[in-house]
Amino acid sequence: PSVKTPPPVLAPRRRTRKVKLGDIFVGGDAPITVQSMTTTPTHDINATLQQIAELTAAGCDIVRVACPRQEDADALVAIAAKSPIPVIADIHFQPKYVFAAIEAGCAGVRVNPGNIRRFDDQIKDIAKAAKDHGTALRIGVNAGSIDPRMMKGDRVTPEALVASAKWEASLFEEHDFHDFGISVKHNDPVIMVEAYRQLSAEGDWPLHLGVTEAGPAFQGTIKSSVAFGILLGEGIGDTIRVSLSAPPVEEVKVGNQILQSLNLKPRKLDIVSCPSCGRAQVDVYTLAEEVTEGLKHLEVPLRVAVMGCVVNGPGEAREADLGVASGNGKGQIFVKGEVIKTVPEAEIVETLLAEANRIAAEMGEG
Ligand code: SF4
Repeated sequence: PSVKTPPPVLAPRRRTRKVKLGDIFVGGDAPITVQSMTTTPTHDINATLQQIAELTAAGCDIVRVACPRQEDADALVAIAAKSPIPVIADIHFQPKYVFAAIEAGCAGVRVNPGNIRRFDDQIKDIAKAAKDHGTALRIGVNAGSIDPRMMKGDRVTPEALVASAKWEASLFEEHDFHDFGISVKHNDPVIMVEAYRQLSAEGDWPLHLGVTEAGPAFQGTIKSSVAFGILLGEGIGDTIRVSLSAPPVEEVKVGNQILQSLNLKPRKLDIVSCPSCGRAQVDVYTLAEEVTEGLKHLEVPLRVAVMGCVVNGPGEAREADLGVASGNGKGQIFVKGEVIKTVPEAEIVETLLAEANRIAAEMGEG
């Protein structure tokens, strides 16, 4: 079989320690993973498992669930056992839930040292429990709940985020516990990027990237894409969570698209469509949308070009696995660089979908 040259990446991945999280790994040479968080009440086990199933189907690798009350902690046993992907319990304020989540069999626990009172006194016991159960931890420092001891003045600086994370990391390491990653989230991508750069230079902890409270879908997608793009482009980041004020499946889609855009995850469906302009001889927006919608189920890497006219149309269509270049009420359909047929405009979508499914089936078989 022919060996394909891997697609180019912007920088070699920074080497971090590899941490086991359930049946996958985070850090080291493990693939960069995409995370999200459920929005259902965790104690509603069926609804939470249903949402985890939807997230998994959308390409989520790791899921986090909130654990604000005892009934949520009680639900973790069933959720951890039945989830198809590793479950991380997200704990704030109450150390007793950290122990509950570890004992429930969660793959990981996110702790927020900034708001767990007397957290530092309990690290020895948390480290021991986590070690005994093979549970990974994430030290999740967040600008909104930073340890007040780390603050100088009234602004949360990258230095304060990093100091807080390093302090907590050192306490775990004193107890010879190393199975943890770190996040230093801020809602300002500039501060967030700088914090991760500094943290990355100071240790080999696996890093969970996140712009916290990034906003509604449009703004949050851009903030996260810009910030993650910079860091991942420098080889920094082992797992990512896009935070959106939108359904979590959207976070997963954006996260996967960011990784695919940087060649950090194999591309699946890649639509190359032109923005359209005054030369367009077909409604490119509708065409691109219909083709995307019709092919979103495909699991194989397929580049499909949808071009509005003959200026760049034939060129891009030829470079793709499949494409159309429109003109004069017709579409020239290209497969692997060859025009296979010319169809009337009304038949472009159905022809592209049929060809795409045929190529995908061949790829699946091959
Ligand atoms: Fe305009 Fe044609 Fe380029 Fe599309 S392919 S943007 S229609 S020139």
